Amino acid sequence: MSDQTRFILNETDLPRNWYNVLADSPVPPAPVLNPMTKEAITPEFLSVLFPMEIIQQEVSTERYIEIPEEVREIYKLYRPTPLVRARRLEKALDTPAHIYYKNESVSPVGSHKPNTAIPQAFYNKVAGTKAMTTETGAGQWGAALSMACNFFGIDLEVYMVKISYNQKPYRRIFMQTYGAQVFASPTDRTEYGRALLAKDPENTGSLGIAISEAVEMAAASGGTKKYGIGSVLNHVLLHQTVIGEEALKQMDLAGEYPDVIIGCVGGGSNFSGIAYPFLRQNLKDGQRTRLVAVEPTATPSLTKGVYAFDYGDTAQMAPIVKMYTLGHTFMPAGIHAGGLRYHGMAPSVSALYDAGYIEAVAVSQIGTFDAAVQFTKAEGILPAPESAHAIRVAINEALDAKAKGEKRVILFNLSGHGHFDMTAYQSYLNGELVDYEHPEHAIEEAMKDLPQVSEEA
Ligand SMILES: *Cc1c(COP(=O)(O)O)cnc(C)c1O
Repeated sequence: MSDQTRFILNETDLPRNWYNVLADSPVPPAPVLNPMTKEAITPEFLSVLFPMEIIQQEVSTERYIEIPEEVREIYKLYRPTPLVRARRLEKALDTPAHIYYKNESVSPVGSHKPNTAIPQAFYNKVAGTKAMTTETGAGQWGAALSMACNFFGIDLEVYMVKISYNQKPYRRIFMQTYGAQVFASPTDRTEYGRALLAKDPENTGSLGIAISEAVEMAAASGGTKKYGIGSVLNHVLLHQTVIGEEALKQMDLAGEYPDVIIGCVGGGSNFSGIAYPFLRQNLKDGQRTRLVAVEPTATPSLTKGVYAFDYGDTAQMAPIVKMYTLGHTFMPAGIHAGGLRYHGMAPSVSALYDAGYIEAVAVSQIGTFDAAVQFTKAEGILPAPESAHAIRVAINEALDAKAKGEKRVILFNLSGHGHFDMTAYQSYLNGELVDYEHPEHAIEEAMKDLPQVSEEA
């Protein structure tokens, strides 16, 4: 075992391939359905939104997909990212456990999201795309795609959830600095947005609504605009596996192997990014690492949702996928982890959870900020509220190991820093945060709006 604290790889260690879990997953995901016909989706439907290379990756079952050299060159701005042993946190907890974290907050925009934004912009550039549309909640995905589109000379329209647009001006300005156009969703630019505003001019938006607007703008553009998505779909999860591939090499440098891997889940991309390469080792190499997905009690899609076919967006324009869902009509509570407020979960994460290959746990908002502050004080890095969900469970695991007198090797993904989330920390420090549990009756109610699809689908 190494006595180092940081485990740094060279540029030459940057992975050459992304890992496609669908090649090894014992549970093949259900087909993706067209929201209008409810039949299996065709490449023609998807080609309205995505370039062909992305569509091929979305449906691929190849185990490894080569990372283009142009993408690797840009990854080198911040990759490989450090793996750090949280020695000061271990000491503060007085635990026999060893805690490691993969630090994805060192990317230029402060989160893991450029890992997929860069290849998405690249494949669009190669396909001749001049403009893209996307949605963003708190602005992390929007900032990542703004940076990537700027690098490749692609115009970008970002539909930003209105409440965040008003409350979080700094990420909006960040996106605008890269040259993106940012609109407060619901907007009057789309049919769907206009219909919502006619009903309620005060509508503060949701991620599901912003997705609908970004998809409508691309679909109605006659092929001139393509759409980029920050999580949930297979190709996004694929791109994020650089995190876990690097972490495997770095754990080797540390001379240890994780007993448990922890990641927060919004749509599931940073969790699967770190976990899937280790799942491969479980399936192929006889390892027994536990993989734990952490969600807020306010958006408990895995722990309380239903495994069913549902629309990816509120307006029922996005494809229907089989996933753990709270219903596409879900309106999230105003918790501060904006990146975790999606109603559904990635289909591959859902299938693997359903079959018992991964675990899930929900944590409350105040407990999460307790952990965030403990981590900030011990390790110096102020985490994103999303990432703090993983920290909460990493600390719980370390305390459990202590109670049982066990050595346990814990690895979690620090998906981002929280420098744009100071109002959340201010609320916590002022004692103004509240816990919120999404009520069972709201889930039951929302299930009435699930699409009716045939059983074989
Ligand atoms: C977007 C985001 C998440 C949640 O999205 P996933 O696709 O589940 O990873 C988590 N952490 C940070 C910092 C984010 O920006």
